[in-house]
Amino acid sequence: MKKRRYGLFGSFGNAMAFGKSSAKIYVKAQTGRTFADVAGQDEAKEALAEIVDFLHCPEKYADIGAKLPKGALLVGPPGTGKTLLAQAVAGEADVPFFSISGSEFVEMFVGVGAAKVRDLFRQAAEKAPCIVFIDEIDTIGKKRSGQSGSSDEREQTLNQLLTEMDGFDGNKGVVILAATNRPDSLDAALLRPGRFDRRIPVELPDLAGREAILRVHAKKVKLSGDIDFGAIARATAGASGAELANIINEAALRAVRSGRSSVEQSDFEESVEVVIAGYQRKNAVISPKEKELIAYHEIGHALVAAMQKDSAPVHKITIIPRTSGALGYTMQVDENERFLLSKEEALAKIAVLTGGRSAEELVFNTCTTGAANDIEKATKLARAMVTRYGMSERFDMTALETLNNRYLGGDTSLVCSAETAAMVDEEVRSIIKSAHEKALKILSDNREKLHELAQYLLDRETITGEEFTAILDKKAAIAV
Ligand code: ADP
Ligand code: MG
Ligand code: ZN
Repeated sequence: MKKRRYGLFGSFGNAMAFGKSSAKIYVKAQTGRTFADVAGQDEAKEALAEIVDFLHCPEKYADIGAKLPKGALLVGPPGTGKTLLAQAVAGEADVPFFSISGSEFVEMFVGVGAAKVRDLFRQAAEKAPCIVFIDEIDTIGKKRSGQSGSSDEREQTLNQLLTEMDGFDGNKGVVILAATNRPDSLDAALLRPGRFDRRIPVELPDLAGREAILRVHAKKVKLSGDIDFGAIARATAGASGAELANIINEAALRAVRSGRSSVEQSDFEESVEVVIAGYQRKNAVISPKEKELIAYHEIGHALVAAMQKDSAPVHKITIIPRTSGALGYTMQVDENERFLLSKEEALAKIAVLTGGRSAEELVFNTCTTGAANDIEKATKLARAMVTRYGMSERFDMTALETLNNRYLGGDTSLVCSAETAAMVDEEVRSIIKSAHEKALKILSDNREKLHELAQYLLDRETITGEEFTAILDKKAAIAV
């Protein structure tokens, strides 16, 4: 049967050969990865452990009449270790690993992708038990449109994949893993029972997860003395595994640049900032006038944060420019991992964001473009409060926006009438305006501290949260 289908493609000549030869095979005794390489994804590992067990002895499952899912879909944001997990499953089970990326299926000629899929499954069947891994499956597995013409090639490839998945005997020991960060765009046919019916979430790591990931990667570098990985993990809320791996590597590079033979805590602290904001622009020339304005701007953020009870503590303030274009920034770090944001905290956050501009207005009686990023963030948060979090009086718990893809950037689309949209704009404006007024009030009430802290920051360029609090408390003591 399979032979004859090949015959049909004979007329494609080169295309066929091309399609066949580029089905990459990774047949290694081991992928070199095991679950020990994957940190902080305990639920995902647990779910995959069953697949590993199945690959070890499929008979156990066949004897009892149990069928394991043919495919499992790893779903989560980029850089969380989906590819790594798939490799680790192969490593743990000690079976061959066939991997192909969805984008490789997208070829010029109609039919080539489908031929590749056939090829891949034929090879996999020969090597069973084994793992077939399809990375970025969304590139071929998008919902079929129903219109003909536009995406013939992709649909053929997808159809072939569905056929192959139905065609092979699950008990043979071929397990198909796939990864995606756009699960909502996948064709329903892919997700139905018998295909990718097991879905394994691979989320961004929490505090403990981040620390574990940092430790796994830190094993590869030489460390000097005690490194406080907990502190680094706290400062990197929201970072993915890939970013954490990058932080370790940046720290090692920094140690080499400084002519040291091991990595210190300060290397890690600097590399966190490199990954967040880019490298320091040491030779950037900034006029003293602008430098002063930037210092006030940053202290404005920090002071508003410190004077509100619902704000995270200030961790560090710096006015050393970065390659990302940031001229300075204020880092706030929560003591504990946060999963929820209350309305009070959201409002406090918006006030902190307006604090930079408020300081410019208060001290220099002007405003600059330096607040552009703050404005963007404040507006985004205020809008989400109104349209998605049900935190406004006027709209109560009405959903006015939906999230398009929660793993990629979180774009939203409005789901309300034009009239309502206009009211939303008004609501957002009023939230920001009152936050701005609050920030202005805090700063003018604490004008002296604002001046003292800004001078201190101007002198040092970087100050820690402790220095900041010390100055704040000293002043308060005198005032009392
Ligand atoms: P994804 O496929 O989810 O986009 P990858 O698996 O390609 O992410 O991860 C990229 C790199 O990031 C990995 O090679 C690894 O070095 C690191 N990494 C990501 N997640 C983890 C994790 N949970 N534990 C250890 N390292 C991780
Ligand atoms: Mg990947
Ligand atoms: Zn700012």
